[in-house]
Amino acid sequence: MEDLYRKLVDIVGEEHVSCDLCDRIAYSKDYSIEGLVGNYVPDIVVKPGCTSEVAEIIKLANTINVPVYTWGGGTTMSGNCLPVYGGIVLDMKRMNKIIEIDTENLTVTVQAGATMDKVYREVKKRGYFFTHHPESAVSSTIGGALSCYGVSVFSAKYGCAYDQVLGLEVVLGTGEVIRIGGKNYVSVPSHNLINLFLGAEGTLGVITEAILKIYPLPVSRKRISIGFLSLEQSIQACIALNKAGITPETVYLFEYINCGQYLERAKVEVPGEFDAAILFGFSGDEEVVNLFIERTEKICSEFGGVKLDEGFTEAWWESIFMTKDTLDKNPFPTSHKDVEPDLIDACVPIGRVKEYYEEYVKLREKYGWDKWPFGLTMVASPRGPIPFLIYLCIPIDTNDEKEIEKWFKFKEEMYKVALRLGGTLSDGNGIGLRTNQWVKDELGPAFDVLKNIKKLLDPNNILNRGIRGF
Ligand SMILES: Cc1cc2nc3c(=O)[nH]c(=O)nc-3n(C[C@H](O)[C@H](O)[C@H](O)COP(=O)(O)OP(=O)(O)OC[C@H]3O[C@@H](n4cnc5c(N)ncnc54)[C@H](O)[C@@H]3O)c2cc1C
Repeated sequence: MEDLYRKLVDIVGEEHVSCDLCDRIAYSKDYSIEGLVGNYVPDIVVKPGCTSEVAEIIKLANTINVPVYTWGGGTTMSGNCLPVYGGIVLDMKRMNKIIEIDTENLTVTVQAGATMDKVYREVKKRGYFFTHHPESAVSSTIGGALSCYGVSVFSAKYGCAYDQVLGLEVVLGTGEVIRIGGKNYVSVPSHNLINLFLGAEGTLGVITEAILKIYPLPVSRKRISIGFLSLEQSIQACIALNKAGITPETVYLFEYINCGQYLERAKVEVPGEFDAAILFGFSGDEEVVNLFIERTEKICSEFGGVKLDEGFTEAWWESIFMTKDTLDKNPFPTSHKDVEPDLIDACVPIGRVKEYYEEYVKLREKYGWDKWPFGLTMVASPRGPIPFLIYLCIPIDTNDEKEIEKWFKFKEEMYKVALRLGGTLSDGNGIGLRTNQWVKDELGPAFDVLKNIKKLLDPNNILNRGIRGF
């Protein structure tokens, strides 16, 4: 350890390396239950300041076979940055520069440790729009979002974090530095290589820089919310809207009980008796926005949808679109002092959502959790005919081992249902430690292909060892 410490100090300087227990403990937990119940303290923490330092650290780790866990904001809820085999935590937050905002080519070039909120604000100052804005925007980083896929408030129209990527600089598991793509919106030779590193959860390379899309700031932005008497009707309304060519930027579909959970914290009353509600957001030219709202109300009403109160809509919006301006109004991160929230982010095709929902209602009854106000959240995205992303959130008392065990069993059953219905293990939060045991079930023989790719890019399994089934 002493030798490793000295060599790391030679690379980044003494103030950016620490073996102190209090520093290391800070990197032993993320926002996952897996992180809370496990004990994953790294041996050493290092904070590189540039790409060549990252490359040198990875090369050094290879020479002594010590794993390296890349760490952005540590806000993942899947345990995918946790140092399960100890070793080095590579904290990227010093590499947080916005290198260039190119308003002609509509790109922003950033270092991977910049927070989403910083990029959003800097781009906005120039009159442009960076679309990936998760609820964790104030602390999560570009590298973390691209490595987990990243779903956000505006994904329905603009796509997820990975849809914004035009170019990447990556340090491979060997320490070799590669640059892929650029400012071209199309690049035939490089695009598939870029995809390899998106959603890889730091297992194939360390992203050091990214060239991302930006958009002109929308002239108008409006929202409405609609209540439905059944979840099925609300889903049918979404399908009809998609077929009609209506493109909202935000589509949050909640089982109604979940609205109560969310908005109770915002101290707003949930109006009426519904089973489901959808929050729609629209952006663009004022006339187009107004037309889309009118058409949305009409189509939803054909499925029994009723427009909800504006105060309710705005409270819901503020509770999901959290920025520094609204931080004090949104108690999400501080509202779980007594119990931890966890989620199941499996995703099934739209045609199987109803079956998935029915299975989930049966299971929550079986596990005796119907008293919990948890529900179903769906976020539409432009990838295909509204593939829905499904979250089931439940607050867990992590002091109660039996409850944790029960929750893990429940999760396993839910993930298996999703796979049986032709779904996938994660929609945007990553596999991490949460679902790594079922990756092979989803991929079948393709998992061996993935393992071979991993071997090629990271022959000693230095990067995030133990994560994602590696
Ligand atoms: C309150 C709260 C709200 C949230 N809301 C959302 C939401 O709306 N949408 C959403 O998608 N997620 C959300 N999340 C989950 C989480 O914030 C995201 O997954 C986020 O993108 C993770 O970014 P991070 O910088 O914190 O990454 P970390 O947690 O540090 O790491 C996540 C993964 O990325 C890898 N990684 C990090 N940086 C790099 C890099 N430079 N190169 C290679 N690999 C890297 C890590 O090794 C790890 O595997 C939320 C979490 C919380 C706690």
